[in-house]
Amino acid sequence: LGLARHELGRTVWDERHLCHSPQERLFIDGAWHEGLLPPEDGPALRQQYQRFAARVAQAQRLGFALPTRQARWTPEHATLDAQTFAHWLDQQALTHPRLRWYLDYCCRDDFGADAATVSAWAGLHYFASRHGFHALGDETAEREPVLTWPEGNGWLSARLAEPLREHLHLGRVVLRVTERKHGIDLLAWNEAAGAAERWEARAVVLATPLFVSARLLEQPPDALRVAAGQLHYAPWLTANLALTGELLHRPGAPAAWDNVRYGAASLGYVDARHQSLNPSPRPPLLTAYVALPAARRRDLLEQPWQTWARWVLDDLAPLHPDLAPQLQRIDLCRFGHAMSVPVPGLRGSAALVALGEARGRVLFAHADLAGYSVFEEAYAAGMKTARRVAGGLGLAAG
Ligand SMILES: Cc1cc2nc3c(=O)[nH]c(=O)nc-3n(C[C@H](O)[C@H](O)[C@H](O)COP(=O)(O)OP(=O)(O)OC[C@H]3O[C@@H](n4cnc5c(N)ncnc54)[C@H](O)[C@@H]3O)c2cc1C
Repeated sequence: LGLARHELGRTVWDERHLCHSPQERLFIDGAWHEGLLPPEDGPALRQQYQRFAARVAQAQRLGFALPTRQARWTPEHATLDAQTFAHWLDQQALTHPRLRWYLDYCCRDDFGADAATVSAWAGLHYFASRHGFHALGDETAEREPVLTWPEGNGWLSARLAEPLREHLHLGRVVLRVTERKHGIDLLAWNEAAGAAERWEARAVVLATPLFVSARLLEQPPDALRVAAGQLHYAPWLTANLALTGELLHRPGAPAAWDNVRYGAASLGYVDARHQSLNPSPRPPLLTAYVALPAARRRDLLEQPWQTWARWVLDDLAPLHPDLAPQLQRIDLCRFGHAMSVPVPGLRGSAALVALGEARGRVLFAHADLAGYSVFEEAYAAGMKTARRVAGGLGLAAG
């Protein structure tokens, strides 16, 4: 995609796509602070940060990778997978409220659920598969680059799809997938024609969430039935807020790409114009993110948009008391099953492994196969399955 090139053994990223500085800030104790890690309020917190950093370094020696299935799976991993992250942290006496808030935030941001819900494997994977964890001032290596686009990961999927444009049949919702003796029948709803249509295929890759795949297949394999029963999905709400003018400056660090309030129910907001290279001033466009507990899925569906708009504005008000009067337009998007939550036992699920390794004419490729949801996992699942299908059909895979 032209995002990176290799020069003298180093990866050099195209700076237009790297998150511009300042990247993150946290509103705590009445002021903005650079970064999302709460500032130290005494030696007890520093000591806890350092102890957690040491535990993450230990976990890295055990082996964590992104995509996760590139790492080996040992009994130690299984032990971590069998308990919640909160339980594991309690056992380690890592209980400082500021550390726990930060770890909860990371889990809600990446997994859609807090440390009391996700497994200890997931909580450690967040750090150990990437840059580790460093107390303030202890950062050694350069941070891993963050790529971001105003349209989010839609930028990536649009460019990955571009070379295949002629082969894509969009605007169709698959209703049924039936394996026959010599092929596969698909029943799809064609949105433009307003009619159902039948397709025949030699092979099918179900790149749909596993709970959807389980409903599409007339005869889902046992592993799919089991896996679909093990998955828990987090509902999410996003809100795009178009403002009429700049917000008042609060004390501390300047506006960043990601802006979070300590203790908030939401995950804060990103500035959708942060990457803009257009020098002429334009009013802010903010995207707020909310990961809700599964118990609130029905509310998300049933409560009117005004209720959720109010919820978002109330949540952001302590950051920007002048936000509501500046609001020109708000666009809300509800995701009933936004991402699979890595609850205890899920990463080690034999059913997920079996689906990822499935042979035959119907194969599976979705981030769900990793037990949690990030772009890298979706990409890895897609590539792996594409190669297998191509091999089975005697085609070359790119
Ligand atoms: C609000 C939000 C923010 C996120 N932010 C990040 C981030 O910053 N970084 C990151 O790495 N990940 C992020 N994620 C997670 C990321 O979006 C997912 O990991 C990724 O989209 C998974 O890709 P996938 O191809 O496996 O599945 P999906 O993106 O779920 O794609 C499945 C596709 O199947 C289609 N489909 C479903 N049913 C049918 C049917 N019956 N017929 C036809 N098509 C069907 C769907 O429309 C969808 O297009 C975020 C997720 C959310 C919800």
